[in-house]
Amino acid sequence: MKIAIIVRSETLDKCTGKGCLNAFFKKLDAFAPYAENTQLIGFTQDGGDLEKKIAKLKELGVDVVHLSSCIRGKSDDYERLARRLSQDFAVVGYTHGKFDGRTRHAICLDKGGALAGKK
Ligand code: SF4
Repeated sequence: MKIAIIVRSETLDKCTGKGCLNAFFKKLDAFAPYAENTQLIGFTQDGGDLEKKIAKLKELGVDVVHLSSCIRGKSDDYERLARRLSQDFAVVGYTHGKFDGRTRHAICLDKGGALAGKK
C-alpha cells in the first residue's frame, strides 16, 4: 500500500508536520489500520499546482491520499478537495487525532477497495 499526505498550506507555514508524521510512523489514529510495510510516498501541501501533484502521485502508484486534520478543521475547501482526489485515489480525510473531529467527521471515500477493512 502506498499513501500520500496533503496538508494545509497556511498551516505548513508554521507547522513541521510532526503530528502527521508521528501518527504515520507509529501507526496511530488514521494510520492505525495499515500494515507495517505501508509506504509514505508523498507529503505535500494543498496549494500550488495541485493537478500536477495529483498526476505525479498517480505516476508513483499512490493508493490512498490522506487530507490532514488541519485541512479538515480549517479549510473551506475540504469537501471539494476530497471529491477531486477521490477521482484518482481512495481518500481518508484526517491524519492525527480522532475520526470524529471537533468541527466535522472525517470524509472517507474508497476507490478500488483500498480502504476495505480500514476506517
Ligand atoms: S495535521 Fe497537524 S501535524 Fe499535520 S500539518 Fe496539520 S497541524 Fe501540522
